[in-house]
Amino acid sequence: MRLEGKTILISAAGQGMGRASAIACAREGAKVIAVDINEDTLDTLPSEADGIEVHKLDVRDRAAIDALASKVADLDGLFNCAGFVHNGTVLDITEEDWAFSFELNVTSMYRMTQAFLPGMIRRAEATGTAAILNMSSMASSIKGFPMRTAYGTTKAAVLGLTKGIAADFVGKGIRCNALCPGTVDTPSLRGRIASAPDPVEAEKNFIARQPMGRLASVDDMTPMVVYLLSDESSYVTGQAMLVDGGVTI
Ligand code: NAD
Repeated sequence: MRLEGKTILISAAGQGMGRASAIACAREGAKVIAVDINEDTLDTLPSEADGIEVHKLDVRDRAAIDALASKVADLDGLFNCAGFVHNGTVLDITEEDWAFSFELNVTSMYRMTQAFLPGMIRRAEATGTAAILNMSSMASSIKGFPMRTAYGTTKAAVLGLTKGIAADFVGKGIRCNALCPGTVDTPSLRGRIASAPDPVEAEKNFIARQPMGRLASVDDMTPMVVYLLSDESSYVTGQAMLVDGGVTI
């Protein structure tokens, strides 16, 4: 029960790492506010663990974010997990792709943080601490990969956002860290593999990135998520935590 007494909001909680994190945090005793743009996947989440409430939320929608922030309890934890992978070189990225990648992968985190941080500061005044976790990536923010320029640029920006928040609010009991996973077996990764010209080859290539010789499972990520949202990481802030199967050894 490492998160007992904490209220934690997680975006992109309908599937993939966000969903697994919502379940893991609830099993550690947190009250989880799980949000996603997709109601169908969200609706099946509360049956997976006690203590999960779900809200449909598009994290690009400032008014909807502000409305949710005024409705829910002050947070002890915020996991900004939503993000999108654009496939292409710098020559392929359209203005729309670039703008969309930034809006979903970076601007949403700035909006979510602006909406929820005042309540988190109030919680930190009462309890001593509150924690933000932003989803970055190993791929193309820490280590370059082909066809990931828009994605990598946004995920590098997430590291800047994370360090800025950490530096500004360290004196108020707020910690802010980023998670940088390697290649994780999630529905969107399966979609990227399926849409490749040769899916079998594409899967082999994704696996070959990791010296450990396998993709990560979502359960390889959730221990780090729980740690960074719990008081066990109370002396850790402003960090990009790599969980990447040895890619960046
Ligand atoms: P996923 O991509 O399979 O699912 C993403 C979820 O986000 C979906 O449930 C979707 O409905 C939701 N979503 C999309 N747009 C939204 C919006 N506007 N508002 C609210 N929710 C929205 O899950 P994943 O692969 O675990 O990816 C989650 C995060 O992890 C992303 O930020 C991704 O960039 C990052 N990441 C993924 C990998 C990987 O290999 N899968 C590696 C590193 C980082």
